[in-house]
Amino acid sequence: MIKIEKKYYFYAGHRNKEAGIKCGRLHGHTYDVKCVFEFTEMNNGVTVLFGDIDKEVEPIIKHYDHHFLVYEEDPLVEALEAMKEPFRKLPFETSAENMAIWLFNRIKRETELPIVRIEIAETKSSNVIYEE
Ligand SMILES: [Zn+2]
Repeated sequence: MIKIEKKYYFYAGHRNKEAGIKCGRLHGHTYDVKCVFEFTEMNNGVTVLFGDIDKEVEPIIKHYDHHFLVYEEDPLVEALEAMKEPFRKLPFETSAENMAIWLFNRIKRETELPIVRIEIAETKSSNVIYEE
């Protein structure tokens, strides 16, 4: 078995009202995302072209780039809509844990890639790991 690890990133603003005063304020992160794919077969010594992974995964990750991520039940949604501000509405509080599960499931559902693990870091010192 061969594992391939691919790193991506996106910049986004958010707030998480469920995670204390600091995280409840509007702020932003560079989200570092690491995806691990597990392959059991190779063709001529190659599992998959790294560029082919990028073609499928990058659009999913970059969908959130330079956007404000907001929980659909956050009262900010109404204000952002009234101001015609672009944002990304999500069905959960935008914690790193929820983002990890969400992105993992999107990649699994929307691509043919054998993703087995995702890691998301909002800060230099903290990393969230999700494995199915
Ligand atoms: Zn945050």
